[in-house]
Amino acid sequence: MIINYPEVAVKSLLDDVLDNYANKYPDICRCERCRDDIMALALNSLPVKYVVTDQGTIITRTVYELIGGKVQVIAAITAAIQKVQKNLKH
Ligand SMILES: [Zn+2]
Repeated sequence: MIINYPEVAVKSLLDDVLDNYANKYPDICRCERCRDDIMALALNSLPVKYVVTDQGTIITRTVYELIGGKVQVIAAITAAIQKVQKNLKH
């Protein structure tokens, strides 16, 4: 199968980052539409890194390093949340 590492990383971190963000801003919207918007924005700001794997989609530290580090992924998601919350599409 072909996977895009940033996509897997964003999916696996999205809920954690949203939880943290919601601690400070409890009124953020977490509906399906906003989650999709956040994912799309975050992914557009991260490098694309397609790989072929037959080992599933487990994200290891090495994988994070290939795409700039876990901190960068979290920063991209946080920036995306801020943008989406300022400009709700529904
Ligand atoms: Zn929403």
